[in-house]
Amino acid sequence: MLQIYNTLSRQKEYFRPIHEGHVGMYVCGPTVYGDAHLGHARPAITFDLLYRYLMHLGYKVRYVRNITDVGHLEHDADEGEDKIAKKARLEQLEPMEVVQYYTNRYHHDMESLNVLPPSIEPHASGHIIEQIAFVKRILENGYAYISNGSVYMDVEKYAKDYHYGKLSGRNLDEIVTDTRELDGQQEKRHSYDFALWKKAAPEHIMHWPSPWSEGFPGWHMECSTMGTKYLGEEFDIHGGGMDLMFPHHEAEIAQSCAALGHDSVRYWMHNNMITIAGKKMGKSYHNFITLEQFFKGEHELLSKPFSPMTIRFFILMAHYRSTVDFSSEALEAAEKGFARLQDAYARLMKSQPSATTTADVAGLNQRCIDAMDDDLNSPIVLQHLFDSAKQINSIADGKATINATDLEELKATWHTFAIEILGLRLEDDAAGSGTDTTPYKGAIDMLLNMRLEAKRNKDWATSDKIRNELTALGFTIKDTKDGFEWSL
Ligand code: ZN
Repeated sequence: MLQIYNTLSRQKEYFRPIHEGHVGMYVCGPTVYGDAHLGHARPAITFDLLYRYLMHLGYKVRYVRNITDVGHLEHDADEGEDKIAKKARLEQLEPMEVVQYYTNRYHHDMESLNVLPPSIEPHASGHIIEQIAFVKRILENGYAYISNGSVYMDVEKYAKDYHYGKLSGRNLDEIVTDTRELDGQQEKRHSYDFALWKKAAPEHIMHWPSPWSEGFPGWHMECSTMGTKYLGEEFDIHGGGMDLMFPHHEAEIAQSCAALGHDSVRYWMHNNMITIAGKKMGKSYHNFITLEQFFKGEHELLSKPFSPMTIRFFILMAHYRSTVDFSSEALEAAEKGFARLQDAYARLMKSQPSATTTADVAGLNQRCIDAMDDDLNSPIVLQHLFDSAKQINSIADGKATINATDLEELKATWHTFAIEILGLRLEDDAAGSGTDTTPYKGAIDMLLNMRLEAKRNKDWATSDKIRNELTALGFTIKDTKDGFEWSL
């Protein structure tokens, strides 16, 4: 039976959904003002693993992952310029153009990583009315106050009736000393109060009418509102990166309790963070590597391009609650490991049954289930698949045998765990060297189209030069009736 680690109780708990057979799951999605990087890949893959496993267990899952397109300010939740508005101003675009552009690119990256799309992907800007209604409930219950057109959570009042800090394990005194003094704090009664609604400054381009001012919702408000709108006032799972635990998720709990009188979420789950060569990711470290840069190998910290499946495999090699440190060397090792898995899968698909089984193949399915049931232990599942790969290689090398029934079961187990649950695309280039040519495809196609053009113009020197140089780089070029084919 599935056990997951609940951040709220700080222990593993047996997963029991509120409604039998159904699971409601909410995960904080991206703020769409820039390209997705590794910090986006990890929660996406972690909760994709959970989503896939819950469906494998037979649950009907409603998975909501939001798009933050308003109210996420630069410095903290309440201060600075809106991240999207700033990008729009710098690039002279309509804010929704920025939102659409980066949302499309995010979707493309997620598809490359084989992350399944959520059931609902609500935008914060599309739920302003619902957010205003949520703020009204908090005001009516006496846990918020209006100040100069903005509405703030009255944290002190809230903390008298509820436990503020229960998720992140902080108490109010610690939060006071943690909260930086910033401009605009004079509107708040206490530095730890956070905005539910912000009055827009005259230069602010994204704003809506409300009973309090022309303004916009505080960043935390969208998740409380959209989570309960689509999953109900109480739902099963809320996930996100550990960096969101405070203040974002702590604020969400406070908002829900203040509006509804009870917490909305049964199981809080958080994936751990990613470091790059031992350092936190951040613009000041010059180590903000976007996923596209990984796929194309275009960053000074990367030795070469890494395929989306290498990135996915690398993330799954660590348990989601452990930290992961990215380096080119570690990725190169992961690439080799993934190629071993692909080769084994290709050999398994080509294996022929014998009359008897001498290979040690029994019990793989149950071992993989046990590992997944133990708080989604993907590294252990991979370990079992590597052990199984050794047996597959023995069978393929004629050192062991497998009968027809066992062979079918082994194929099914690999398909279920490697492809469906871990979401690894093993079939791609499965028999090949494991080298992913996707990053070069556009460039090679362009060169070969230039060669076709040269041939049409009877410019044989250019045509030969392109072919010879690509061949020298290890590409195989074949002229066909309709043009060309190539491989590496
Ligand atoms: Zn959120």
